[in-house]
Amino acid sequence: MTGQRVAFLGLGHMGLPMAKNLASAGYDVVGFDVFPAALDAARAAGLAVAESGPDAAASADVVITMLQSGAQVVGAYLGGDGVDGLVDVASPHTLFIDCSTISVEESREAHRIAGIAGHRALDAPVSGGVVGAENATLAFMVGGGDADVAAARPLLEAMGRRVVHCGGPGLGQAAKVCNNMILAVSQIAVAEAFVLGERLGLTHQALFDVASNASGQCWALTTNCPVPGPVPTSPANRDYEPGFATALMNKDLGLAEQAIESTGVDARMGLLARELYASFASGPGATRDFSAIITTLR
Ligand code: NAD
Repeated sequence: MTGQRVAFLGLGHMGLPMAKNLASAGYDVVGFDVFPAALDAARAAGLAVAESGPDAAASADVVITMLQSGAQVVGAYLGGDGVDGLVDVASPHTLFIDCSTISVEESREAHRIAGIAGHRALDAPVSGGVVGAENATLAFMVGGGDADVAAARPLLEAMGRRVVHCGGPGLGQAAKVCNNMILAVSQIAVAEAFVLGERLGLTHQALFDVASNASGQCWALTTNCPVPGPVPTSPANRDYEPGFATALMNKDLGLAEQAIESTGVDARMGLLARELYASFASGPGATRDFSAIITTLR
């Protein structure tokens, strides 16, 4: 429903274009970011901005957060250090939607804090990156109650093209962490196969032509091909300019590692991928596309 008042907190790489798309769709958006340069960029982009997060949230129907970490989300909800908590200033039954990528535990904590304060809450992490945020083609993975997801759907659809209700509180984050663990493991497997093929005398194109039409087919091969040539749009063709930066993949694998530890699941491939990406992210690889992990194998 347009005309709804939306407080949008966190106007960074993802948040600013998402907030702009909401405003373009007719929502009454007021943004805020603790980083002055992000606020200036939002003003320059024509977005209305508030003096503080609580100022934006006080008169909002919906409060969206797009922050870096779970600690920031929980901290913003609760307040402290002289800053009011968002859940304390918002009107009763305000819908809190956290789009940040955070751990399942922290997400459930955010749900709990909002619920105790008399609000409704969803976790709605995204995939699709900055390009998806700019073009309103994000995919949202949503955790929370049916009625709240139904209420949020039109708003999420103004920022994305796919909204999947994954289950109760935290299960949007669970879906995101599981998907990205598959992605990390498969990107490494594809890289290893290309390097092995090289040593055996196989051309990149021949391996691609076989695997992309056989059981080795996967996104890491057919969209994010880690060698230049077979998929002209993959980051390998532009010296691994992201795409999806290794630092972000490593962050998501850290969340997967936490989930693996808290559940006790025997996920050795996921943990090994975490180890390899943590090492790659500790150097200049951090800012390259995560498919550049192939350069560490040669
Ligand atoms: P970013 O660092 O560019 O933006 C986050 C912003 O939040 C920063 O400007 C920061 O100043 C602000 N912030 C922190 N605490 C705040 C508070 N209390 N109130 C208001 N603003 C606050 O990060 P990003 O790339 O936009 O990513 C945001 C989230 O989306 C992260 O959780 C990330 O993992 C996830 N994500 C990012 C991408 C991507 O491609 N960048 C893709 C999918 C998901």
